[in-house]
Amino acid sequence: MNNLVIKNCAAIMTGNRESPRSSATDIRIRDGFIHELGQLDANGDERIIDARDCVAYPGWVNTHHHLFQSLLKGEPQGLNQSLSAWLASTPYRFRGAFDEHTFRIAARIGLVELVRSGCTTIADHHYLYWPGMPFDGAEILFDEAEKLGVRFVLCRGGATQTRGLESALPTALRPERFDDWMQDVERLVGRYHQPQTDALRRIVMAPTTTLHSTTPQELRESARLARTLGIRLHSHLSETVDYLDAARAKFGMTPLQFCAEHDWIGEDVWFAHLVKLLPEEIALLGSAGSGIAHCPQSNARLGSGIADLVALERAGVKVSIGVDGAASNEAADMQSETHAAWQLQRARKGMLARPAYEGGTFEGGGDAATIEDVIRWGTSGGAAVLGLNTGEIRVGMAADIALYQLNDPRYFGLHDIAIGPVACGGRATLKALFCQGRLLVEDDRLPGVDLRELGYEAAKAVETLQRNAGVRG
Ligand code: ZN
Repeated sequence: MNNLVIKNCAAIMTGNRESPRSSATDIRIRDGFIHELGQLDANGDERIIDARDCVAYPGWVNTHHHLFQSLLKGEPQGLNQSLSAWLASTPYRFRGAFDEHTFRIAARIGLVELVRSGCTTIADHHYLYWPGMPFDGAEILFDEAEKLGVRFVLCRGGATQTRGLESALPTALRPERFDDWMQDVERLVGRYHQPQTDALRRIVMAPTTTLHSTTPQELRESARLARTLGIRLHSHLSETVDYLDAARAKFGMTPLQFCAEHDWIGEDVWFAHLVKLLPEEIALLGSAGSGIAHCPQSNARLGSGIADLVALERAGVKVSIGVDGAASNEAADMQSETHAAWQLQRARKGMLARPAYEGGTFEGGGDAATIEDVIRWGTSGGAAVLGLNTGEIRVGMAADIALYQLNDPRYFGLHDIAIGPVACGGRATLKALFCQGRLLVEDDRLPGVDLRELGYEAAKAVETLQRNAGVRG
């Protein structure tokens, strides 16, 4: 039954910028959409969900991930390295070690972890491709996402260039031919892509990096094809200072200038990270209406820095939150990520404080980001970046809703229960999670998912990966 009324919410956070809190206590859902908000009575054909002591949030929208990395958490060789060394140590060293089964288990772990944090939309930047690859990762990802009932956006990554000599590389590190890659994007669009704004499946053009993954001509060509197909564009950008050095050395410009010169800018483009930007790059991104997938935990774990969301948003950039792959973020769930985003924006501003006698004008960063800002970034901000009409608890929107029951001592003593899921962090009990009005989680349980079994499969899969990568005999 698709029609129901959520009754007696203790608080409703809307994800909306102008009115971030609703005074309503009840939410009516009909045919997958939010039909009414207020103090409501259920009709005869409506199921009642009792949300006493619960806080309602829009389902989180995660705009950047690499699900295959869910089996690479805490990998020792890369644990204490910065981005470039870590890339070689962990994701690239292990990429050829994945087979169909380990890949599926990795995807399942990441998806289940996100769903248990209240996430209903997941954009995965999937770049595990090489010529003659023995399994179709896209099919596995869509299959696993559909089993859980979430919206899934496949950002089809890849590369035609590598920094090493191609013939000396193991098969799994060899680049694809540009035409093969673009043909696969067209195939995926034909098979999965739904253009409507309440889509459950989307495809995105997503070279792994704009600076290094293709030739400049191919980059421009990929943007042209994406716009012909009516799909969005996504990539990594400016995660560390290396992007600035590389863009200057290779092309004599800033990373953002290079993207703009090759048509990789606009309201249909979003970039992960954007930690190291020059002021003129922020202005350029803002005037184009492009978006950011802010990944605070990964950026902190790799020591890359903290993106300036306040300046980006002020410039007109669409702000969203992504957990990034678990190989650089062992807490790849949206509750942890938004909690970190809230704190790190404040820490970032605090780091810039100077004494008045040196010209300083403020004491600290306590006003840098509110809980309402962070909820908006993680919900409607993400939907805006992906071009979806979701991410808000508002009449007419798709019914993607998380109900958190704050029954852990971590949440006891709150003066304002509404902020609990973000301010306190942790993992709140999910009383219910809806995507397009469908119940994905009830009383903290995902139907059809045995967590103990998944843990056992994960441990076995880690052993297989270590063996295949030559780490264990
Ligand atoms: Zn990433």
